[in-house]
Amino acid sequence: MAEQSYKGGCLCGRYRYRIEGPLLPVVHCHCSMCRKSSGAAILSWTGTASENFAWERDEPPLFHSSEQASRGFCPRCGTQLCFQYTARPDWSFVSVGSLDEADGLERGYHLWTSGRLPWINFDNDLPKYEQGKAR
Ligand SMILES: [Zn+2]
Ligand SMILES: [Zn+2]
Repeated sequence: MAEQSYKGGCLCGRYRYRIEGPLLPVVHCHCSMCRKSSGAAILSWTGTASENFAWERDEPPLFHSSEQASRGFCPRCGTQLCFQYTARPDWSFVSVGSLDEADGLERGYHLWTSGRLPWINFDNDLPKYEQGKAR
């Protein structure tokens, strides 16, 4: 994991965050909730220890997409910014697309490929998990 500092935020700039510390390798999630909530075929995530993560002003509203997790969105521009497991508040996940600079991230794996759209076909040398993966 690269030791760095990162910034990110939503499309309109209303919500901004800062990460001081290493980021996890990028995970491409094929689950139907990531798809619906983003409007994209795949949603790519990275994460960091929550102690490394801070919002610059205030926090975006959370949508509880399941009993296990909630997702933070900007209500003005619609960017999905973050994902939090209810049972793991010590980890904070951010959408890779919301990072200002994501070129240096490490390659990770595919999650929930059981929900993969059949015409998605990329990074096929990465590990694939039909469902989730315990952290
Ligand atoms: Zn916004
Ligand atoms: Zn997902």
